[in-house]
Amino acid sequence: MNTFEKDKMFVAPTYGRFPVEIVGGKGAILKGSDGKEYIDLGSGIAVNTFGACDSEWVDAVKAQLDKFAHTSNLYYTSPCADLAQMLCERTGMKNVFFSNSGAEANECAIKVARRYGALNKGADYYTIVTLEKSFHGRTHTTLAATGQENFHKEFLPLTEGFVHATPNDIASLNEAVKNNKCCGIMIEIVQGEGGVNALDREFIEEASRLCKENDLVLIVDEVQTGNGRTGKLYAYMHYGIQPDVVSTAKGLAGGLPLGATMLGEKVKDIFEPGLNGSTFGGNPVCCSGAVNVLSRLTDEFLDEVTNKSNLIRETLSGAEGIESISGLGLMMGIKTVKEAKEVVNCCIDKGVLVLTAKDKVRLLPPLNIETNELIKALDIIKEACKL
Ligand SMILES: *Cc1c(COP(=O)(O)O)cnc(C)c1O
Repeated sequence: MNTFEKDKMFVAPTYGRFPVEIVGGKGAILKGSDGKEYIDLGSGIAVNTFGACDSEWVDAVKAQLDKFAHTSNLYYTSPCADLAQMLCERTGMKNVFFSNSGAEANECAIKVARRYGALNKGADYYTIVTLEKSFHGRTHTTLAATGQENFHKEFLPLTEGFVHATPNDIASLNEAVKNNKCCGIMIEIVQGEGGVNALDREFIEEASRLCKENDLVLIVDEVQTGNGRTGKLYAYMHYGIQPDVVSTAKGLAGGLPLGATMLGEKVKDIFEPGLNGSTFGGNPVCCSGAVNVLSRLTDEFLDEVTNKSNLIRETLSGAEGIESISGLGLMMGIKTVKEAKEVVNCCIDKGVLVLTAKDKVRLLPPLNIETNELIKALDIIKEACKL
């Protein structure tokens, strides 16, 4: 059996995969098992911050593998402590809980808000306001947080205590806070899976204001938007707000599984030994990868992310078959006249890997993609969008 046949027979069929088998790569270029080369504008869904096989990152990870791969959280390790310090110093947050994925990072954020509500407002103040079209993960409770009916319906009943307000509708957000006994508000600055929609500045500021006024925990889900993706280290930094909790994962360790939930001043003392845990959380190999990633996301590097974002906008705006462009930094959605799926398949044919988000084509290129590779890929996307 080849890989396609074996996968179809033995891997649980939860994914609609494209007919491509990746066997290697370097930077933004991936190689298929058929010998074909692809320019990768998906980065493994915003995970491969520096693309495939980045040599500095590989060296950092290998160096830790040569020491030890894992110990458990019963002992201290320096990559975990170093990474936590870096995250706190660059965000103003006070301490960090490490896990292995975005959903787990959000599970922790939800626990923090619930415990904060119970301790400071009363046991029945457990409702968290999230947004329609949001995406917060696939665990049972993060599914409940996710404001999309289609993810819910097969798995009812879900965890109670979530209400969904309408994105960019300030009245709807106020209603949700007023009509429920709330402990927190949870938002993505740019809704990723929901269609690459950036929230309005006024709406983000209102969420922050409501949390201050009502003593709620403001959780910003930066699983996809974090770690340089939008041209700032974290997307909330575009807006001059200070969240109480920031969750992140995807691009943090540059290709290894790592989740982080950063806790600000208001909630920094929520946990005590035994209240949360994760066997693999803060794994030294993953943390070494993340220390390398964060140390390279300098202001100069992030300015380049913004420049490349502008290049994408300028190149695609007004092109035949392209209706509009949304998103922030190197997280972009393209509304096409053709079906997004058709454009994606056409791009794959022509050697470019792109994603979809709802009815849009979604771009999440490696942050260090070479400009000439990006231009070549954009030409192919333009071709694919033509009517
Ligand atoms: C991908 C994503 C998640 C879930 O992350 P996993 O690592 O797949 O669990 C949660 N929130 C947002 C905003 C995401 O984009």
